[in-house]
Amino acid sequence: MAVPIVEEFIELAEIDTVSRQERAMVDALKGKLEALGCTVREDDTASKVDDGTAGNLIAVLEGQTEGSVLLAAHVDRVQNGFGIKPQVRDGKIVSDGTTVLAADDLSGVAAILDGLRRVQASGARHPRVEVLFSVCEEIGVQGTLHLDPAQFQSKFGFVLDSPGRIGKVLDSAMGKAELFLEVTGKSAHAAYPELGVSATRAAVLLLSRLGDGRIDDETVLNWSYLVAPGPCNAIPDKASAKAFAMSRDNDKLAAYLNAFVDAAAQVAEETGAKMDASYVVNYPSFYVPSDRPPIRIMERVFSKLGIPISVQHGAGGLDANRLNGYGIECVGLATGYSGNHTVNEVLELEDLIRSGEMVEQIILESAAV
Ligand SMILES: [Zn+2]
Repeated sequence: MAVPIVEEFIELAEIDTVSRQERAMVDALKGKLEALGCTVREDDTASKVDDGTAGNLIAVLEGQTEGSVLLAAHVDRVQNGFGIKPQVRDGKIVSDGTTVLAADDLSGVAAILDGLRRVQASGARHPRVEVLFSVCEEIGVQGTLHLDPAQFQSKFGFVLDSPGRIGKVLDSAMGKAELFLEVTGKSAHAAYPELGVSATRAAVLLLSRLGDGRIDDETVLNWSYLVAPGPCNAIPDKASAKAFAMSRDNDKLAAYLNAFVDAAAQVAEETGAKMDASYVVNYPSFYVPSDRPPIRIMERVFSKLGIPISVQHGAGGLDANRLNGYGIECVGLATGYSGNHTVNEVLELEDLIRSGEMVEQIILESAAV
């Protein structure tokens, strides 16, 4: 028996897509959302991302009750996602073993479409539904970086994008920053070290004063790259280092970044080397407490559906990081995939089908907030 959400997932997976090349996917989804009664617009993210071809899709289904809920999923996928041949096998959807399946995140996209379809078919009164189908999520959560949050009325939402079985709710994820160090010393013959300033020594001195690895329960740091090119018979005048830092606590991340800049200034003074210490905060962390609407709604939804809820802390970034940063309180939701970003990616058929029911119930329960 044909199940609409399964058919639609397979149809979407067969559309060749990768981050920055989402044009065909966005066009197909625009048509689907309009057919479901939504007003749809595409934002100008395509012009703000290098080599971008499509923007984020923002769709609105007007409601008949109070309230507004945001539902989000990303439409791009990692590399090796062209020519996907999805197949249903033993209660799971898999690729043919040569590509990813793109259940990350088309299972989320298909669940949102299915939830809208169910709500429309039931004729139930519902709140305003805002849908965000983002581009370029897999390349540093870039699509939502360029999103205009003012276009949303929703104060809370749900990002359907997390590996794991249905029932899993991500109440948090780490924020991330990249750190860059460029040291300029003074070159001299190795036999006359007094005449030079070693960039290598200054870089190592700085790193020795900074934490690395696990800093605390909520913060990790990885100085992954350190290079000082040049011959061994000369004092090195150039050294570079890079790191990334992740933390569940935006204040702790900021404290480390400040400590990095301060320590670099200190080492510059002590050694005479020029130390350029800079950083970029890629996205902030988020944490949604259990008494907030997104978690209370999921408790009601899963209890209605007879699915055990499992609230967990996430690690890496997703669109929910940015949406929370914009003041829209969002949790992450699993839709039943695992092994994502590999050719062994698997989507549980039962979870996919139930994800559509989950979205329907989220929409209905969001009216009560
Ligand atoms: Zn994803």
